[in-house]
Amino acid sequence: METDGINKDRTDKDRTSKAQADVAHPLAGQVAVITGAGRGIGAAIARALAGLGAAAVLCGRTPAALDSTARAITQVGERAEALPCDVTSLQSVEAAARHVEASFGRVDILVNNAGIGGFGGPLHQLPPEAWDQILNTNLRGVYYTARAFAPMMIRARSGHIINISSLAGKNALPNGAAYAASKWGLNGLSYSLAEELRGHNIRVAVVCPGSTNTDLSPHTGKDPAKMLQPEDVAHAVVMLVTQSPQSFVSEILLRPTQKP
Ligand code: NAD
Repeated sequence: METDGINKDRTDKDRTSKAQADVAHPLAGQVAVITGAGRGIGAAIARALAGLGAAAVLCGRTPAALDSTARAITQVGERAEALPCDVTSLQSVEAAARHVEASFGRVDILVNNAGIGGFGGPLHQLPPEAWDQILNTNLRGVYYTARAFAPMMIRARSGHIINISSLAGKNALPNGAAYAASKWGLNGLSYSLAEELRGHNIRVAVVCPGSTNTDLSPHTGKDPAKMLQPEDVAHAVVMLVTQSPQSFVSEILLRPTQKP
């Protein structure tokens, strides 16, 4: 009898500590791929998802930046891997997807964060090469990653795709028309992809932040203390990936509390 009591106590304790671990690490066992994860918003998202227990796969073009972000995550006992990948190259994106499938056999979360700015002047003065670079990174790149990673999610009947857009995808942006066009396009892509993948139990959401304190652009004349911080955007991503299975927040507009 006494032994049974001890065993019951142990089982209860095991259950309690497992429940506590589940609460602290709701993404344990999951794999998150984040593009543009070497710095800025992408690095903050990678840190946040790894902190919740996911293995974070950090994609980007600059191995040194990816390595240093990955190292900061693994040094605190969380899981991260740097995976060089240029989202403007279908070959590079497909190679990254093959690597993730071979190493982990799954992808639970894809955060399309890689992006470049372009706020130099009016559209009629923008060189065509700059237009191509902005659209190829911010819009075509998301098509490439969806093409490469969604089939794994479809097979698993589960997944989150989170596209980091911008309030510039909701508003006019004089002297940043190509950037605004890329983000308006990204929103349209996201809403449509969401409907295509919803039946497969995959949630596609879009996060549209306002001015965020990163190196994307000079943010001339703005008060960095009032701007959103990369961690604020990461927090929105955390909210999306920790929803209950039946809940689907499809879009977040994220503004600084006070105009910077
Ligand atoms: P950032 O410049 O600090 O980071 C962008 C990252 O994307 C960098 O690591 C860069 O190397 C990577 N990247 C660029 N081209 C790439 C490519 N071809 N392949 C792979 N990686 C590539 O800027 P950020 O502010 O952290 O921007 C992240 C995302 O947030 C972007 O999509 C941006 O449009 C969006 N956003 C930023 C702001 C802002 O004010 N900073 C506001 C709204 C939305």
